[in-house]
Amino acid sequence: MHQSPPVFRFAPSPNGLLHLGHARSALLAHGMARQAGRQFLIRIEDIDLARCTPAYEEAILDDLARLGIRSDAPIRRQSEHFADYTAALDHLTRMGLVYPAFLSRAEIKARVSALEEAGTPWPRDPDGAPIYPGNDRMLAPEIAHARISRGDQVIWRLDMQKAMERVGDLSWNESGDVDPDPQIDLDALDGVRRFRAVSAEPARWGDTILARADVPTSYHLSVVIDDALQGVTDVVRGADLFHATSVHRLLQTLLGLPEPRYHHHRLVRDSNGRKLAKSDGDAGLRMLLDQGLSMDALYHLVGLSRDDALKDL
Ligand code: GLU
Repeated sequence: MHQSPPVFRFAPSPNGLLHLGHARSALLAHGMARQAGRQFLIRIEDIDLARCTPAYEEAILDDLARLGIRSDAPIRRQSEHFADYTAALDHLTRMGLVYPAFLSRAEIKARVSALEEAGTPWPRDPDGAPIYPGNDRMLAPEIAHARISRGDQVIWRLDMQKAMERVGDLSWNESGDVDPDPQIDLDALDGVRRFRAVSAEPARWGDTILARADVPTSYHLSVVIDDALQGVTDVVRGADLFHATSVHRLLQTLLGLPEPRYHHHRLVRDSNGRKLAKSDGDAGLRMLLDQGLSMDALYHLVGLSRDDALKDL
């Protein structure tokens, strides 16, 4: 059990307006924090400088305020803290766990298609993307260096096998009411927050991306650094990030960071059973609030009762 007082957070990316799935996450995390009488933080995950905008950030904070959700501490904006992520990347590099990779997304696709056409089924990560097929990890350092110097596009990847050898078996404490992988049967919550150990399977992600040349970090790297720096003890987020937790546990262990507890919640789906996405224009929350949706109706729409958000601890 944690010694430090619980700290919960909601960490939206300002690349669009909030949809009902975000509302569910934010209400649940905020409700759980309030139930424990503890800190709740909002963090802005804006490392994607091309897609994130201050206007979206403002709209998100405004919509959250309309739900009664505010940060108890100054908001941390990831784009202002690249130095923290670079320091972590340097640390992993010094441990010999990072290598520069040069295949572009199109080259990865072409290589995987060629392999599959030749009859070699190629593994996919839990998000459905092909595992990195390049063998740049074997590249002589002088050659890699020369390619970087001449301006080749580089992506910094984790040597997954080496990283796993360093840490051995990993798991995390989960109290979520859902697992996106139907083989694992998790209990539903019945008012008490019960934890179970879930085995981490970082190998399923292959040599995952830690940083790009233009943005010196990735989602995985910055999220674990920030959760640690902000003293987050309890991560509440959608089931779409359940498998990402395997990578997070690996990075936390390699970097000597504390281990938060996790609660991955069911996703809000549209009437066709499809997961909501900003990119599909499912920007429902603001519109519904403007139309005068009551808080009770909102709780109902996102599949929570007001009690649920509170009794979850
Ligand atoms: N920024 C991520 C998103 O908007 C959430 C990250 C997290 O909760 O760990 O999907």
